[in-house]
Amino acid sequence: MKNFYQGHILKNHAELFKTAHRYLVGGVNSPVRSFKPIGGDPVFLKQAKGSKIYAEDGRKLTDYCLSWGAMILGHAYREVVEALEHAVRQGTSYGMPTCLETELAKLIVDAIPSMEQVRLTNSGTEAVMGAIRVARAHTQRDKVVKFEGCYHGHADHLLVKTGSGANTLGIPDSLGVPADFSKHTLVVSYNNIEQVKETFQQYYNEIAAVIVEPVAGSMGVVMPEPNFLKGLRTLCDEHGALLIFDEVTTGFRLMYGGAQNYLGILPDLTCLGKIIGGGMPIGAFGGPREIMKVLAPLGGAYQEDTLSGNPIVVTAGIATLKCLNRLQPYSKLASATQKLCKGIQDAADFEGFKIRINAAGSMFSFFFTDQKVVHYQSAACQDTDSFREFYQELLQRNIYFSPSPFEANFVSVAHSEKDLENTLQAVRNIFKKMRKQ
Ligand SMILES: *Cc1c(COP(=O)(O)O)cnc(C)c1O
Repeated sequence: MKNFYQGHILKNHAELFKTAHRYLVGGVNSPVRSFKPIGGDPVFLKQAKGSKIYAEDGRKLTDYCLSWGAMILGHAYREVVEALEHAVRQGTSYGMPTCLETELAKLIVDAIPSMEQVRLTNSGTEAVMGAIRVARAHTQRDKVVKFEGCYHGHADHLLVKTGSGANTLGIPDSLGVPADFSKHTLVVSYNNIEQVKETFQQYYNEIAAVIVEPVAGSMGVVMPEPNFLKGLRTLCDEHGALLIFDEVTTGFRLMYGGAQNYLGILPDLTCLGKIIGGGMPIGAFGGPREIMKVLAPLGGAYQEDTLSGNPIVVTAGIATLKCLNRLQPYSKLASATQKLCKGIQDAADFEGFKIRINAAGSMFSFFFTDQKVVHYQSAACQDTDSFREFYQELLQRNIYFSPSPFEANFVSVAHSEKDLENTLQAVRNIFKKMRKQ
């Protein structure tokens, strides 16, 4: 029975993927969905509810990818769905101002005080592009410091040493990006404040901004070491550069607000996305009025999206943030995540597998390595073959982690004790099986 079922699964999704390949490049609309880093065919979904995703072949899986972290309330959360049902009937796009946009911006500003003013975009990529344009316009400088393994979307000049997608696919940079476009991008190692200091010395008076994921999630989860972010804050202040936190993943994930509230270091500009759209395409960037005023229509830095602030998207965002603010699920999410991580670690230890788990709040990842993972180089040292094997075993047991050793996993409000216990039981069985082989 089991084998028949497994054979059926593979055939079905393989066929769907084959058909998709005919019309979509590589069969997908985003390379990270292709399963290239872990092999096999991607799972095709038709529905999702709570902690579960439903595949086209009838399988029901427990989801720890959660649309790359966006679905913190779980899938199809009732209040969000009801708000959307109402919103859709009012029309799907106006291209004119709405009170909804003001409301979402106020929710963001109230939660993240360093963001006095906000501009909404359609994606995290666009939010980062906007923030960097503002930083360059404000400082009248060109250079931007980024960290190896941090991903900030796919804008040309930031598609340099990006971790996750690009690195797991073995594309160090990207074709189609003129070398000239990234000549103002300076790449340094995460958690290496000395290197940032040297970079500031070398490019004295030229650096517009340092952009960083305050907790990195694109080389797996990597925590900032004590004093790393504080060091960045000090260096930026000393040299008149802006500090940009890319909180597209961490915003409203670690607490109601940003990682900046959680870690106590304030950036000049913040980028958001994912959770603030409740599963709809969104991004936002913001900072002090004094800096944001360079943006058109007030200032000369141009930025726009035809559909930004879309009423449907913004409705999903408002409903999500209101639910999160009311539920304040963060300590519960964090302890559920700790329990899960400890269980995975114990299971690995018990069977003699060397793994390292990094977790922050309800985001986590595990690396098949025995060294501490503090930057991209250490993340890249993991044993990706073991990861792949482990991943395939999980998938066969209907557990869906993010399909790459360089991506974060997430726990949602909808994950029950039973979900976590079932996952742990599967993990124990898998390590046992892997050891016997
Ligand atoms: C997802 C992500 C982005 C890109 O956002 P998109 O909406 O995919 O354009 C940028 N930065 C970080 C940290 C992200 O996690």
